[in-house]
Amino acid sequence: MFKHKYVIPVLLSLGILGAILAIFGVISWWWCFLLVFIWIALTTWGSFDIRKSYFVQVFYKRKYHDGISLALTFDDGPTPITNDFLDLLKTYNAKATFFCIGKQIDKYPDIFKRILAEGHTIGNHTMNHTKTFGFLNENQVIQELSSCDAEIHDLAPLIPRLFRPPFGVTNPSVAKAVKHTKHQVIGWSIRSLDTILKDEQKIYDRVAPRLGAGEIVLFHDTSERTLRVLKRILDLMESKGLISVTVDDLLNLNAYE
Ligand SMILES: [Zn+2]
Repeated sequence: MFKHKYVIPVLLSLGILGAILAIFGVISWWWCFLLVFIWIALTTWGSFDIRKSYFVQVFYKRKYHDGISLALTFDDGPTPITNDFLDLLKTYNAKATFFCIGKQIDKYPDIFKRILAEGHTIGNHTMNHTKTFGFLNENQVIQELSSCDAEIHDLAPLIPRLFRPPFGVTNPSVAKAVKHTKHQVIGWSIRSLDTILKDEQKIYDRVAPRLGAGEIVLFHDTSERTLRVLKRILDLMESKGLISVTVDDLLNLNAYE
């Protein structure tokens, strides 16, 4: 298995062996630098590609699916426009998962409650969604997760077990923190890039051809642009006989404690 916990001992052993050989002049020190370079490259790659489960187990799609279900997910809300997303999902009888930010829940508690009341799943997306999330230490990540859980628990009798890391970043701090807080990390198999791409058609073109059973689609309930794309995606799903279920239903996991 190509994971952080196996890669480190292997690179370390090779490093020690290389250093001994280099001290005795058998090989050049450049081989040791090469190992350091490989370590940095793997760590960077593992941190940013959530599908690799490099540091921690990440659920990002359902391999053995029922042929019709996929999971639409929305990050970074609730926001005032979340209401329009909920209206649209209701029209299509679709269920989704909302990975909410604690401080947004604090601002829009009624919209948060509406998400739950309409049968969608809530997941933890940290308290503050700080841009420096990838640099927090284990305790800081635990703090971000626990505060968001507490915010949710204040409004509903639930403690979420599903967590999506901001920017999809996983690293050793996140891995240790979720072991402590017992959250399951949920990734995605289709990234719409809806907060980056300004052209609606480009967002649609990224998602539409890949839509299929078992997939987990990442959107954000933060813009009119995404709302318009979602309408087209729901139409396409209907024509293909695909339905959206909550991510816990898709993956057969418990969403709450
Ligand atoms: Zn986010």
